[in-house]
Amino acid sequence: MDISEIHKLFLESSGVCTDTRRIEAGCLFVALKGDNFDANSFAAEALEKGAAYAVIDNPSKVTGSRTILVEDGLSFLQQLANFHRNFLALPVIALTGSNGKTTTKELIHAVLSQKFKTSATIGNLNNHIGVPLTILKFTAETQLGIVEMGANHQREISQLCAIAEPDFGYITNFGKAHLEGFGGVEGVIKGKSELYDYLRTKDKLVFVNSDDSIQMEKSNGMHRCTFGKSADSEVKINSVVADPYVSVYWEKGEVDSNLIGLYNATNVGAAIAIGNFFGLEPSLIGTAIAAYIPNNNRSQILEKGGNKIILDAYNANPSSMDVAISNFVQLSSSEPKVMFLGDMFELGNESDAEHLNLVQRLADISNVEVHLIGPYFYAHKNQSVSIHFHNSLASFLETISFLELHGKNILIKGSRGMALERILDHIS
Ligand code: ATP
Ligand code: MG
Repeated sequence: MDISEIHKLFLESSGVCTDTRRIEAGCLFVALKGDNFDANSFAAEALEKGAAYAVIDNPSKVTGSRTILVEDGLSFLQQLANFHRNFLALPVIALTGSNGKTTTKELIHAVLSQKFKTSATIGNLNNHIGVPLTILKFTAETQLGIVEMGANHQREISQLCAIAEPDFGYITNFGKAHLEGFGGVEGVIKGKSELYDYLRTKDKLVFVNSDDSIQMEKSNGMHRCTFGKSADSEVKINSVVADPYVSVYWEKGEVDSNLIGLYNATNVGAAIAIGNFFGLEPSLIGTAIAAYIPNNNRSQILEKGGNKIILDAYNANPSSMDVAISNFVQLSSSEPKVMFLGDMFELGNESDAEHLNLVQRLADISNVEVHLIGPYFYAHKNQSVSIHFHNSLASFLETISFLELHGKNILIKGSRGMALERILDHIS
């Protein structure tokens, strides 16, 4: 069967499923292989549970007319997504960058859905499987597709671009994340810029934060739509405030948000620029952004035990740490400030230097009680007498009751693997 025939079956189906625990009646089951599983073995079960067809890549598992044999399940999924994207011929916006992709995607989705039928990446499904699954959710009614693209290696973004064929792109930032896989900051810039490379070749448009010199340099000569304080465009940003919630004042209006952290002003700026480009009224852009409430543990404000807590424990890398610390330090607050910061992972050769860097920076901050948690930070405990170092989360939690956490302003941030949200259970 060729791809157009399978695509017809897909259109008649209730959608693609890859997990036999979540089979929808009438779906097209696609068997994928992971490190620890081979879904070819579950094809028969998928059919029993109601899948209309099962696409498999192991000839020995063919069981009757409702199994479709392809060469490779993953490549097939990507090919089907690309075929579907071209079949629908809708405009697609792609987002990548080191930090802020999901937040920006949600904001753009909130804004554009005021005027268009938009379909966007669900949650964080942004990799070689998530991007195809996102595209395969687009329907004939979808007017605009919004696709988050994640990467931790070179060539990943260019592969995702080949699948999604975006017409518009935005790179949130070039930060110090996944340094290990990318091979340093230069590697990150090169890897993320694959989105620009694709759009440049196809003569498509990029949205650019004019205050980011790397974005400006890398997008030089491309069709671009800029926004920012230094932008010479309709989306010139006059000022931003984050105390603690972000407000952005731009040429055509004011936008308030439920997001904290100055870095979110950039994410809001991108959503304004994209909304403005697609012809939304400034007031509609404002109401959509104001109504967006982040629902994951990325930068939330909580009140617990009489403390005001900024919980940003979803992930951390040197860039997002840097902005989170600057933001916390500049907050006007009458309560004493305390930071609980955890180790940053996936930094490869730069790990030691980046942790040391942060320790030295934190040693210079006065009026904030700093606790650093995890062995990477602990290795630099001789750098400062004012910082409290803890070798592990467990050893920190043993001492937490002595900290008298009441009436404090607290920042919690660390890499996912540190699971610093567990600190919350110990504050009452
Ligand atoms: P992931 O790689 O997990 O998909 P992401 O790029 O989608 O991450 P978000 O989930 O939106 O990013 O935000 C994660 C964290 O990154 C935030 O909690 C915040 O600390 C930081 N962050 C968000 N936006 C920016 C930005 N524009 N610049 C720097 N850091 C940011
Ligand atoms: Mg994300």
